[in-house]
Amino acid sequence: MKILLAGLGAVGSAAAWRLAELGHHVVAFDRFAPPHPNGSTHGDSRITRVTAWEGPEYVPLVQRAFALWPELERHAGERLFVRTGGVFLGPPSDRLIAGSRTSALPHAVPFEELSAAAVRDRWPWLTPSTQQVGFFDPGAGILFPEGIVRAELARARALGAELHLDEPVAAWRADGEGVEIRTAKGTYRGDRLILATGAWMQHELAALGVELKVERLTLHWFAEQPAHPFRPETTPILVMADEVTHATAVFPALDGAIKVATHGGGEFVTAETVDRSIRPQEIASARAVLDRFTPGIVGAHLRSTTCLYTNTPDGQFILDRHPVHPQVVLGSPCNGFGFKFSAASGEALARLATESQVADNAPWGLNRLM
Ligand SMILES: Cc1cc2nc3c(=O)[nH]c(=O)nc-3n(C[C@H](O)[C@H](O)[C@H](O)COP(=O)(O)OP(=O)(O)OC[C@H]3O[C@@H](n4cnc5c(N)ncnc54)[C@H](O)[C@@H]3O)c2cc1C
Repeated sequence: MKILLAGLGAVGSAAAWRLAELGHHVVAFDRFAPPHPNGSTHGDSRITRVTAWEGPEYVPLVQRAFALWPELERHAGERLFVRTGGVFLGPPSDRLIAGSRTSALPHAVPFEELSAAAVRDRWPWLTPSTQQVGFFDPGAGILFPEGIVRAELARARALGAELHLDEPVAAWRADGEGVEIRTAKGTYRGDRLILATGAWMQHELAALGVELKVERLTLHWFAEQPAHPFRPETTPILVMADEVTHATAVFPALDGAIKVATHGGGEFVTAETVDRSIRPQEIASARAVLDRFTPGIVGAHLRSTTCLYTNTPDGQFILDRHPVHPQVVLGSPCNGFGFKFSAASGEALARLATESQVADNAPWGLNRLM
């Protein structure tokens, strides 16, 4: 089949790769030249975990992604995933704790639960409050988003995919059984179209009465302190429920820099109009969380950037065919937690485009929102 694809971020580049591996003729487009810092898939690192506080239905999807990363690493000849384990801190009822346990039990995913005192004994640099408990996911770790997108696009191209970078899709229309798209450079026709344009999916879904909310978040890097080495070999990724945002993630140091990512509590924007400057208060808030939970671990502020979440109305993924034009497939699997699943989400979009029956995307069907 000839598959047209708009959007080569985390999800679209995975779809391009999986389609090309299946021998389909892929013609793909991106507004920029991925990997790039304008959407949702930049900032050096992403957390992955086997447990999924989002819901037990996500565990098989992330397990499929875990199965695909080594294959991609072989093609790329570089490491794209580092296992560090992951410790989540929060009140016992918080979804970081209760949701993670609920997701693990039905899938027999290993985990440990720790009291605040046990957390302090195991990781002396961590100072949970007495109201907090710990949840340890030994399978968690760090993914490298830019390296993964580069590797997926290189593999797709090596298998014959045509990649049109810096060429945004301006419009599409169903054309009999197939579909036609238009860009500033031309008109292209194919059997199927996959739309995975991240924060730019807002317009596409609005046309179907589904409101996506684009959220501006910030990432911050601070210097690792020589007196407190904070390396992936000995340091788990950390996610803490806090009052400032919904949660804050702290990554072990990469190249001497410790990254902090705020999760939630951002302002709603559009991809076209987002303010990409960083406000001093945002750096101060990130440092305040570090000073509270990991005192003395970080040094000087090094850099910061903005990044975009694309939130669906119920916070769950959208992976489905267009309700009127089934030859068009729509993907919005973000909500601020989508990267870890992206290899499998991309594969799910590829299957929706090429297979007549796809049963296991039911939790992420559009009809629940229409
Ligand atoms: C601050 C932050 C921290 C995060 N942390 C984590 C984490 O730790 N773990 C995790 O699993 N997830 C995390 N996420 C979420 C994850 O990064 C996203 O879910 C994922 O990157 C979304 O990928 P995407 O392909 O949907 O979007 P994008 O990567 O933005 O891709 C969309 C692509 O579509 C292109 N495009 C747009 N319009 C057009 C057009 N008209 N024609 C052609 N192309 C077009 C864009 O240029 C872009 O390349 C985080 C997100 C943010 C913002």
